[in-house]
Amino acid sequence: MSRPRAAAPRMKGGLDLGGTKIQAVVTDGEANVLGTARRETPHGGPEKVMLELAETMRAALDDAGVELMGLAGVGVGAPGSIDADSGTVLQVPNIDGWHAPYPLGPALQEELGRPVVIGNDVNVAVEAERRFGAGRGFDSFLGVFWGTGVGGGIVVDGKHLVGRGSAGEIGHVCSKPGGRRCNCGLEGCVEAYAGRAHLEERAQEAAKERKTILFELMEKRGRDRLTSGVWLKALQAGDKVAEELIQRAVQALAVGIGSAVTLLDVEAVVIGGGLGERLGPDWLARIETEANQHIFFDDKPAYRLAELGDLGGAIGASLL
Ligand SMILES: [Zn+2]
Repeated sequence: MSRPRAAAPRMKGGLDLGGTKIQAVVTDGEANVLGTARRETPHGGPEKVMLELAETMRAALDDAGVELMGLAGVGVGAPGSIDADSGTVLQVPNIDGWHAPYPLGPALQEELGRPVVIGNDVNVAVEAERRFGAGRGFDSFLGVFWGTGVGGGIVVDGKHLVGRGSAGEIGHVCSKPGGRRCNCGLEGCVEAYAGRAHLEERAQEAAKERKTILFELMEKRGRDRLTSGVWLKALQAGDKVAEELIQRAVQALAVGIGSAVTLLDVEAVVIGGGLGERLGPDWLARIETEANQHIFFDDKPAYRLAELGDLGGAIGASLL
């Protein structure tokens, strides 16, 4: 007996575009990942990045054993400001050679021959945690992604709060008036103390006067930057510079989180991102203790680590 063929493909592609890597997934349309691929983000401008995104997607399809035409569509989570309607990435702070708006959606759609939708990388990661990860079961939560920068997203009453398009930028909440200059141009941002890029700058300054194993660890691992893994190793080895800088980062995060929770009264705080996930439960507990000191009411929120890890952004993008 012959069965009717499925009318339309259900599988989806998701791409997470980061400053250092591109992560691709093929999913069954929900949270089940059928194939993955990861590549380095190339230097040299948006068109190169677009072609590498397409290659990474093809590699994930190979991994899944799925044809390109089997995909209903591809979602891309991209950093910076996005015009979702036109699929244009307006501004990208962390990718070399990408200085002007670029129509990433239309260009990638032409390259792949499948529909492409673009969204903000942090928003899609929050959406993935809401539907399939640590945000499940909460009607409202604050997502904080602690990595190269510090991103955030807000779910209130079951809905993603977007404001005029940029709500949730907890990394650029002021944690210290007149404090360190942030990449965004403002002073004293949470990110200026907690973002991995800023932490590395401060570690370099500290290394001129004090002993730290951070940069030895970096070289031993063959890396050219202080990755989340390097920070974790240095902390485990009792490196004083690492301990002080991460503690200062936690303080800044705690001010931002405490203020946001006081304002929004969310049920939970979900911490993800490279540093958030690598540093794990012990540091989550420190963030909780410090952030709770800045929360007005006695009924404190729950604190959870993001559950979807490295693939969260790409899975979230596939939902676009
Ligand atoms: Zn800032």
